[in-house]
Amino acid sequence: MNAIKLIVIFIGLLVSMAWANNALSAGNIKLYTLDCGSYDVSDMQSLSSTGAYDGQKLKMANPCFLISHPKGDLLWETGHVDSLADTVDGVVAGVWHSKLKTKLVTQLAQLNIKPQDIEYLSLSHIHPDHAGNANKFASSTFIVNKLEHDFMFSEPAKSNFGAYYSALKQSKTLIFNGEYDVFDDSSVVITSMPGHTPGSSVLLIRLNNAGNILLTGDLYLHARGRKLNTVLQYNAKELTLDSRVKFETLAKKENARVIIQHDKQDFAKLPVFPKYLD
Ligand SMILES: [Zn+2]
Repeated sequence: MNAIKLIVIFIGLLVSMAWANNALSAGNIKLYTLDCGSYDVSDMQSLSSTGAYDGQKLKMANPCFLISHPKGDLLWETGHVDSLADTVDGVVAGVWHSKLKTKLVTQLAQLNIKPQDIEYLSLSHIHPDHAGNANKFASSTFIVNKLEHDFMFSEPAKSNFGAYYSALKQSKTLIFNGEYDVFDDSSVVITSMPGHTPGSSVLLIRLNNAGNILLTGDLYLHARGRKLNTVLQYNAKELTLDSRVKFETLAKKENARVIIQHDKQDFAKLPVFPKYLD
């Protein structure tokens, strides 16, 4: 056998090994949805800058997601703070009534997972319904968009919400711009979609059986809002609309199942924890 033939066989072997490795990891990814609370909104007025929902009510979900990958676990969101489960009927702040049935740490314990077992933590953004238990995961590697990292540790966010995530300042931190491929095999990709906060992100997960899934963070808050393209009053409107164009292009290209995280119907269609998609 000549040298060229040997090199061709060797390259072929490397390609097939890489393919097998990717196929193996893709086949072993599990997406768990945890119930990290809910919101009852008594008046949706602030959910649109054009008055589209004035006086209307809405019930919202508030899930967390655990992605189990052969190279480690990624927790996407940490939900309402666990102490909310100790209250009789949650907490009312303005039009928002937050509730939590079961603590996140209690749910993870069903899989024999302790917070310090989670290798990677990432949040769509740092608002308290997403970062509520972030301090418990300070030993994880924190993956965060540069703009969100700057935002979270500066005023006024630091004073308003910092108590929920202050411990992450000491965490091992991976700061990215634009896009981050968590396990370096394209199976789990965080993509920057600013507007709700300066560095808000969405998560793409490529599953073997369930296909491609896109988790919206708060780019959309409910299905009607996606249909009508309404923008929350607190958002940077133009930035949000630009991100949505980018998001819809991505969803189409990936033929992805879009999960609007706060949408009750989307949440209800996901397997009940500890069941999972794979
Ligand atoms: Zn939210």
